[in-house]
This record gives sequence, C-alpha cells and structure tokens, in this order.
Amino acid sequence: QASFLHYDSDLLDYLPQQRRKLLLKLAKEASLLGYNLYLVGGQVRDLLINIPLNKDLDILLEGDLKKFFVHLENKYGYQYDYNNKFSTGFLHNQYGFSIDIASCREEKYHFPGSLPLVEKADLFSDLFRRDFTINTLVIDLNPGRSGILYDFFGALNDLKNGILKVMHDYSFRDDPLRILRGIRFQILKDFKLSSKTIEISQRSLRNYDYHKLAIERVFTELSYLFKSKQDLSQFASVLLKEIPVLKLIKSDFEFSSSQKSNFLRAEKLLAQSRENSLGVNHFLVRLMILFYNSKESLIKSWPLSTLEKKIFVNKIWENIDFSIFEIKDPALKYRRLEFFKKEELIMFASLNFESDYIEEIFKHLKRRETLKIPISGHDLLDLGVKQGPEIKKYLLEVRDQILRHQIENREEALTYLKKIL
Ligand code: ATP
Repeated sequence: QASFLHYDSDLLDYLPQQRRKLLLKLAKEASLLGYNLYLVGGQVRDLLINIPLNKDLDILLEGDLKKFFVHLENKYGYQYDYNNKFSTGFLHNQYGFSIDIASCREEKYHFPGSLPLVEKADLFSDLFRRDFTINTLVIDLNPGRSGILYDFFGALNDLKNGILKVMHDYSFRDDPLRILRGIRFQILKDFKLSSKTIEISQRSLRNYDYHKLAIERVFTELSYLFKSKQDLSQFASVLLKEIPVLKLIKSDFEFSSSQKSNFLRAEKLLAQSRENSLGVNHFLVRLMILFYNSKESLIKSWPLSTLEKKIFVNKIWENIDFSIFEIKDPALKYRRLEFFKKEELIMFASLNFESDYIEEIFKHLKRRETLKIPISGHDLLDLGVKQGPEIKKYLLEVRDQILRHQIENREEALTYLKKIL
C-alpha cells in the first residue's frame, strides 16, 4: 500500500536549478508519449538528509526507454547510450553530471548471486527489488505532480532514524553484494543495519553457496569501501565478527583476533599516511592485512594489477632487516628504505607496531614525497657528463648530499658537482 507524502513546498526546489529544469523538461517530454518519469535512489535519499548531492541523477521511466531516447534525439538531438538487455541507458548532456535512466523493471535470479534476468514492470515492483528501504524513495517529476515524494515502504521513517532495512528475506540470497553495500552505508554514511537485516545477512552467508558469484563484482563493491579515506576500524571491531561478509571472497575466511588487531593498527597507520598526504594504496593494504595467509593461487586469481599481486605475494616486508633503522648515514638509510614500496613499509609497520621504527618509517615516506633534487640531467650534460647511467649516478650523489645536509640549493649542488667531476 503506497503511503503518499505531500510536501508543503516542492521538493525539487531543493535541487540545483539546472538539474531541476532539465528534469522537468524530460518529464514533460515523457508525458507527451504517455510515460511517467521519477527521480529515485541516492539522490532523493541524500536530498532529504541534507547531504551534498553526488554527481549522478538516477531516473526511472514508466514506459519504453528506447522510444523515449529516440524521441529526445529527434526533437533535441540528444545523444544517448542504450542497453537493451537491462533496459537502462545514459543520456549525454553538457552540464557535467551523469543522467542514468532505466525503465521500471523486475529482476529474477537463477542462482544465488547470479546476474538477474530483467523484465519490464511498474514503479512499485522496481522499487521492491532495491537494496534497502532508504533507497526506495521517489520524487514524481510528471507535470501536475512534480515534486511529490512517494514513500511505499516506510523509508522516510527509516531515513529519519538512520536505519538500513533490507527489502525482503531473500534479497541477500539474490544479490549478496547488497550486504557489502549495507556495510559501506553503515561505515561511510553513518546508517545502522537493523538487527533483522543483520540476521538475514548472517543466514544468507551461512545457507547459500555463492561460488558462482563473479569475483570482479565483489572486488568492485569492496573497493568502494576499502579505497575510502575514512577510518574503517568499525569494519574489524564490529562488522566482520557479526557479518562474515569476506566469505564472499574466500569461502573459508576466518577472522582471527590477531588479524583484527593488525587491521586496527593498519587503520591508525593509514590515517597517519593521509595526514601526511602519502598517497598509500588503502585498498591493497586493507586486503593484505585481512587475507594475509591466503594461498598464492587465490591471490593471483583476483582482479588486482600485476604490481599489486607482486607486492601481496612477495610479502617482502617480512624480510626487512631491523638493522636498516640503525644506519647512521641518512643517505645510506634512505637508499636502503627506498627499495620498499610505501604499502610494504606500512605492512611492516602494522605487523611491528610496537617497534620504535614507526616514526622513522613515516619520516622516510614523507621525505620521499617532498625531496627534490635541485638539478637535472641537462645540467650534468652541460657539465660534460655523458648520456647514460652516469647521469643517474651523479643525481643520486647530489641527493645523498642533500640528505646529509651538505647541499641546500641548486647553486651548492652545481659547485659540488664541478668539484667532484
Ligand atoms: P551512492 O551515494 O553510494 O552513489 P546510491 O544509492 O546512489 O549511493 P548507486 O550504486 O548509484 O548508489 O545505486 C543507485 C540505486 O540503485 C540505489 O539507491 C539502490 O536503490 C539501487 N541499487 C544499486 N545497487 C543495488 C543492488 N546491488 N541491489 C539492489 N539495488 C541496488
């Protein structure tokens, strides 16, 4: 049963002017074909809780999307991409935000985690297949009804209470990525999964076999969480214990207490890396901590870059000699530490958190980001050095002297070079 919520003021007034105008124009064109147009999804949710709007506009069409696109093309010359299989499309525009349009549809799943078979449906059924109630709010765009908010599933109440409620008991069986989405919403957007939703996620992870789930899809969703520059301690301290979602990646995944403390340490170090703008690959570090002892063959089957796989599999941080940190000559110490990638040093620091070397590691990484050599290869050519490896050798020698505080600027660097050449 639909519960209609009429707002005193038009909700669309809260959208930036350009978006509002474009949406109303599109809805008017849809109505000429006898179709209905609605604004849905994250944009409506965020509008209602005053979160700055992200870039996408998600629009739902009750009608034939292909015909709608053709109509817009004929009348205004609008360009579009249309996906017949999923009845979805993308409308190109000059305003710098993306407009995704989909025909209202139902989804049928053949096995847990399969890609859905899509069938045309009405607005209600389309909303019913969504992940959480808070994502089912709709703003009508149609002439005469524009700006009215529809709340079919008690979403407004959940939104006010900041609660994530799954739409139905089999939602996570159909698409377990929704569990990861829920965890992401809880951690990054400050919502809270309802206890029933947690129960359903636990049951689904226990009862269904997701081995046919495409690993690329899991990694894509996981990356939204793991790439985040926010603190993810909550993931380890609460969520992983409650919802063993990483079983989607490794079916026998266990979360030990040492993994938990390593993860929490890594979070502290990643926060420090952000404060120092070190550009550390958060996704990789978090993955390596959680899947530390996984088999090489498993890691190699994941959609990671060649370099990421190499860092993960080689675990070179296990062989970092503590004596490096005792080296007195700053230039030599730099050369030895430089050999390791940032992520390798962060892993070393996470696993040796009690050591006195954490500060040293950050000092080094910061230096790595900021250190500039005040001369170039051209200067060396001008001084008569031959093209080839000699150039690099002298550049590094200058760098050594900078690290030893013997050289401070370009002038001193050139004087030094003239002397040694
Ligand atoms: P964000 O702010 O992260 O972009 P969003 O809710 O807009 O949040 P999208 O991934 O853009 O996220 O999805 C748009 C809408 O599509 C969502 O609001 C949700 O209703 C629906 N949706 C997305 N992924 C799923 C899914 N796996 N299962 C069900 N519904 C989904």
